[in-house]
Amino acid sequence: MSILPTEPLQIVEPFTGRNDARPNLVGLSRGDLKTVLAEAGLEPFRAQQVWHWIYWHGLTDFALMSNIAKKTRERLAELFVVERPQIVTEQRSTDGTRKWLLRFRDGNEAETVNIPEEDRGSVCVSSQVGCTLTCSFCHTGTQPLVRNLSPAEIVGQFMVARDSYAEWPTPTETVRMLSNIVMMGMGEPLYNFDNVATALRIVMDEQGIALSRRRITLSTSGVVPMIAKVGDVLDVNLAVSLHAVSDEVRDTLVPINRKWPIAELLAACAAYPGARNSRRITFEYAMLKGVNDSDADARELVRLLTPLPAKVNLIPFNPWPGAPYECSSNNRIHRFAEIVNDGGLSAPVRTPRGRDILAACGQLKSASLRLRGEKVGGVRSAPP
Ligand code: SAH
Ligand code: SF4
Repeated sequence: MSILPTEPLQIVEPFTGRNDARPNLVGLSRGDLKTVLAEAGLEPFRAQQVWHWIYWHGLTDFALMSNIAKKTRERLAELFVVERPQIVTEQRSTDGTRKWLLRFRDGNEAETVNIPEEDRGSVCVSSQVGCTLTCSFCHTGTQPLVRNLSPAEIVGQFMVARDSYAEWPTPTETVRMLSNIVMMGMGEPLYNFDNVATALRIVMDEQGIALSRRRITLSTSGVVPMIAKVGDVLDVNLAVSLHAVSDEVRDTLVPINRKWPIAELLAACAAYPGARNSRRITFEYAMLKGVNDSDADARELVRLLTPLPAKVNLIPFNPWPGAPYECSSNNRIHRFAEIVNDGGLSAPVRTPRGRDILAACGQLKSASLRLRGEKVGGVRSAPP
C-alpha cells in the first residue's frame, strides 16, 4: 500500500504583503469611519472627504487626497491604510471574462470574476472562502468553509475589478463597464449576511461606488429564514438556486433542501418584499443530463413558479475536474426552455462564460484550507 496521499498536499503560500498593524479604512460603514477618524483626532467632516476619495476616486494613497491638509494626510498614513486584496493571478478568457485569484491579509484566497458584455459587465463577488454547503454539482462545494469574508474583503473584490478596468473615478454617465454586482461567487452570502450587508451598503452609497440596488443581485441556495431580511435590509434583486422540482432530487443536489424544502423556499420567495412583476425573482436551474432535465421536470417547474413573480435562468452545467454530472444536450436544453417559455415564464439559456479559465458558474475554488482545529467565527452550523 502506498503511503503517499491520494491528493496532492495543498499548501497555503506564505503571505508576501505588508505585515504591519495599521487598520484598513476600506470596509468600514460611514458611521464607523467617522468614529475611527474622530478617535484619531480628525474633525467629523473629514470622514466625508476620505470616503469620497476612497470610494468615488478609488485612491489608495493618502498623499493624493488634495483637499486635506498635508499634516493630516501624514497622520492618516501613519495610522491607517487604504488597501485592496492582493492579486495573486489574473486570468483572461478568450471570451473576455476576467478572473482574479485574490489573497487576503491572513493568506487565505478567494476568486472574483468579471463577465463583460457590450456596454456593461457583472462582477461576480465571493462571500466566503469555501462554503459550508456541499451542493453536489458545484466545485466550490468541494472546498470546506475556511472563513467568512469581511466587508473590506467583499468590497475590495469590486475595487480590484475597477482598478483593472481603470473605471475610477466613479462614472456618472449610465455606461459603465462594471455596471452590476452579482453575489454569485464562492460561498453562501446568507451565511455571512452582516458582512455582505455592510459591503453592499458601501457599494450602494451615492457618494462612492454608487451602484443602485437594481444593479445588485444576491443569490442564495435557500437559507429560508434570512430571505425576508435581505428584502428589509438591502432590497436588492434576489436569485434562488432551485435546480430541481422535487424534494427528492433537490435533497441530493442542494442538500440545504433537507432543512428548508421547496415548499418553504417558495413561500419565502412569495413574501419577498421586492417580488413584484417589475422585479422578478430569478430561479437558477443548472441543466444536468438525466437528473433534472425531462419534459415532466419542465412542466413541474412551470406549475411551481407560475404563482410567483419569477423568471428562470437555465444554466448549462459547467464541468469541473471530477464532477459527477454531465451537461444536458443542446437539444434537451432547448426543448426544456421551450416548455418553460410556453408555460409563460421567461427562461433564457445562459451562454457559459469563462469556462476555459474555470470562471463560469459553480467552477470557482481556491486552494485555501482551514488549519486543523481552527474555528470559523460567526458561522451558523451547516444543515444536516
Ligand atoms: N451559494 C450561492 C451563491 C453561488 S451562485 C448559491 O448557491 O446560490 C452560483 C450559481 O451557480 C448557483 O446558482 C449555483 O447553484 C450554480 N452552480 C453551481 N455549480 C454549478 C455548475 N457546475 N454549473 C452550473 N451552475 C452551477
Ligand atoms: Fe455553496 Fe452555492 Fe456552491 Fe452550493 S452552489 S456549494 S451554496 S457556493
